[in-house]
Amino acid sequence: MIPFHSNSRQHESLARELADAVGSVDLADDAAFGRTVERFEDALADYCQTGSAVAVASGTDALVLALRALDAPPGAEVITCDFGFYATAAAIVMAGFTPVFVDVAPGRMVMDLDAARDAITPRTAAVVPVHLFGETLDMAALRRIADEHGIAVVEDVAQALGARSGGRLAGSFGTAAGISFNWSKHLSSFSNGGAVLTDDPEIAARLRSLRGHGNAGGFRHTRMGLNSRLNPFEAALLTAKLPHLDGWIARRRDIAARYTRNFAACAGVVTPAATETEAHVYHKFTIRVPDRDALRKHLTDRGIGTLVCYPVLLHDQPAFEGHPLRAHSSARAAEVAAEVISIPVYPELTDHEVDVISETIASFVQPDL
Ligand SMILES: *Cc1c(COP(=O)(O)O)cnc(C)c1O
Repeated sequence: MIPFHSNSRQHESLARELADAVGSVDLADDAAFGRTVERFEDALADYCQTGSAVAVASGTDALVLALRALDAPPGAEVITCDFGFYATAAAIVMAGFTPVFVDVAPGRMVMDLDAARDAITPRTAAVVPVHLFGETLDMAALRRIADEHGIAVVEDVAQALGARSGGRLAGSFGTAAGISFNWSKHLSSFSNGGAVLTDDPEIAARLRSLRGHGNAGGFRHTRMGLNSRLNPFEAALLTAKLPHLDGWIARRRDIAARYTRNFAACAGVVTPAATETEAHVYHKFTIRVPDRDALRKHLTDRGIGTLVCYPVLLHDQPAFEGHPLRAHSSARAAEVAAEVISIPVYPELTDHEVDVISETIASFVQPDL
């Protein structure tokens, strides 16, 4: 049995360290909770090489608040990719804006920059690049487009902590960036957690107010925020885990390289194409195959867990029915959504398990090989 995702393998090996981290929070000292969260914010900003990190309760909240901090007019358009996780689009809607969905780049699973440029109108306030599955976009190119048109960039780094674009860390390119530490992410809490990264002290101050319902002091609320705090125990656990992140990412890259080698002779399996070495942290290892559903059943029957990320394009999500949105382009994204399947890639997988998974897939997709 090889589960699609496992935190237990990680937590087993860190059991003592994590118990110590939780135990070190002084329950008898009210101020200790705030300090524990601040310590994590400092460590995270340091890791991400950004001016500040503002911790919140989830990645979704991080994106909602980062977008609200732009002070754009209600209903303004925000461009993002049509292929991706629901929360990105939901955050745009929750922030009071109109999502505009554009296609993926040819041969890739992240936003096409030409399509993003074509989708800009006088109502566009921002673009939200999603480094999906851990793969960065060409952020220098996106910044040029955004600067040319005077629109903001808010990065969705939920799946790409530690990934680089042109040598620079994801999350350091935009006005702000939202991160998630939910249980499934590659720096995971035990339930939910998130943070907004920003280099702009004014935006950071706005975010600290926004996470407390926009309180500007003395119960005067100047912006519509959220009640969104990171649990201090999660902060303590995340602080203990953070120094391990680079090692985990290195192992994810090893596993990805092994899969890529194993599938090299199997033309029916399309592996993710990273444009530069450090541009991918393989939060997910997502392949494309001709008959995804049949392969998934074949793997399930043999005790190998998979996940289809993501079968429904965002503009098609039933939850958005009745909400204003614009589907700008989606032809390539629809093909991707029909063919993708994500396979296990957590750092604690053994090489043997990676080979078993590869062999089970290859012999199904190409039995004559
Ligand atoms: C997980 C995720 C989010 C939302 O984060 P939560 O912490 O679950 O709210 C947003 N965007 C992407 C791309 C994600 O993968």
